[in-house]
Amino acid sequence: MEPVILDDIPFNPPYEQLAEEMRVRKGSPHALDLRRLLEEAKEIARPKALYRVAPIEEKGEDHVVMNGIPFHSRVLRVNLDPVHRAFPYISTCGRELNEWKTSQEDTILNYYAGAINDIALRAARDYLQDHLRETFRLEKSSYMSPGSLKDWPLTEQRALFKLLGNPEETIGVKLSPSLMMIPSQTVSGIRFSSEKDFQNCQLCPMENCSHRKAAYDEELYKKQFS
Ligand code: SF4
Repeated sequence: MEPVILDDIPFNPPYEQLAEEMRVRKGSPHALDLRRLLEEAKEIARPKALYRVAPIEEKGEDHVVMNGIPFHSRVLRVNLDPVHRAFPYISTCGRELNEWKTSQEDTILNYYAGAINDIALRAARDYLQDHLRETFRLEKSSYMSPGSLKDWPLTEQRALFKLLGNPEETIGVKLSPSLMMIPSQTVSGIRFSSEKDFQNCQLCPMENCSHRKAAYDEELYKKQFS
C-alpha cells in the first residue's frame, strides 16, 4: 500500500479552551489578540498526516525490515513481535501555520501562535489515530518514535522518512541535517496493534519531564526486552 495523505483535517478549537490553557482573562487586552490570532489561524490552518501500511518482512535479534527498509531497535523488534504489519506515520500542524507563526514578530503573539499550532498538531495526531482505528480496526495500539529512547536513536528518522516516500513534497514536512522536523510542531513514529499499553516513557529515566505519560519502570527493559 502506498503512503496515504490526510489533509482535510478539521481545525475549529473553541476560543474558551485556548484562553484557559493560555491563562488569558476575559476582557483583558491579551484576550483580543488571542481571539484575533485564533480566527486568523482557523482560516489558514491545514493540519496534515501521512501514513502507510508497512508489512514486516524480516525480524532479527534487534532489527526489523519493513518495505525493504531496516530499523534498528531491540525494543521496537520485541514490540512488533506479535504483529505482521505496522503503521509508520507523520502528523503535523502544517507548513501554513508554521509560516504564519514565524511571521509573528511580537514575543507574546508568537507565543500564542505557537500554542495554536500545538492544538493543530494535536488535531492531526488524533485524527490519524481515529482514522487508523476505524479503517484497520486498530482497537488497541501503541507507538514508538525515533529518538525517544537510547535504544532507537534519532538517526532512524531517515529510514522512517524514506519509508513514507517524500514527506516534504506530500505534506510539507522536511527533515533538517540535524534530523529535526520542520515544522517543529510535527510528530513521527510507528504505530502498531498491541494488547499491552506500551509507552516510550516507561523506558525513559528523564527526570522532571513535563510531557511524561507513564512512570519510568527500571525493571521493564530487563523483563521484556533483553
Ligand atoms: S519521559 Fe519525556 S523525554 Fe522521556 S520519553 Fe517520555 S516524554 Fe519523552
